[in-house]
Amino acid sequence: MSNNTSIFVKFIRVMRILNTMLRRGTNAITGCGRVYIPFFVVITGQACSLKCRDCVNLTPYAPPHTMRYDILKILDTLRQILSLSVIDVLQIQGGEAFLYPNLAGLLEFVLENKAVKRVVIATNGTLMPNVGLDLLRNPKLSVRISAYEHLSRKSAELKQYLDSNNVTNNMYSFASGIGRVWKLKM
Ligand code: SF4
Repeated sequence: MSNNTSIFVKFIRVMRILNTMLRRGTNAITGCGRVYIPFFVVITGQACSLKCRDCVNLTPYAPPHTMRYDILKILDTLRQILSLSVIDVLQIQGGEAFLYPNLAGLLEFVLENKAVKRVVIATNGTLMPNVGLDLLRNPKLSVRISAYEHLSRKSAELKQYLDSNNVTNNMYSFASGIGRVWKLKM
């Protein structure tokens, strides 16, 4: 068993124990005996089109080999997790998700997998999508735009593009206010 496999099998075992403890008050174990995961984040890599000083992921300070994670490793890990669980919301993010060259392949996998109920792409709104509308219009999928309006006017353009092409999306304005709380420029 590889180290990765071992870690994820342990993770699932811990989830099962926690879920068993919580079972009386929740539906943590699904009817099919899988672990119910309400929210799960897949990080595609640390490559980003912005360099926010206070980035919670420390993206601007990440080493070069973390810019784009191996799609085969991501898919292999997801296969293992999804064989034991059901994920209600799976969020794909970076860095910047629309910089990930294998985003289409990742989306095809999670959109087709019945153990994933909903998929969210989190973007910083500075780039147009690098995947086709056939994927973006999937009823399981929505795009969450984090609006950094004072750094880029692209977010409004992106929203208009998604709206006019019937892609479910919402604007998330946590970083508005010219960085009063967060320093958004290096
Ligand atoms: S846009 Fe997001 S991921 Fe990129 S540097 Fe800023 S906070 Fe970090």
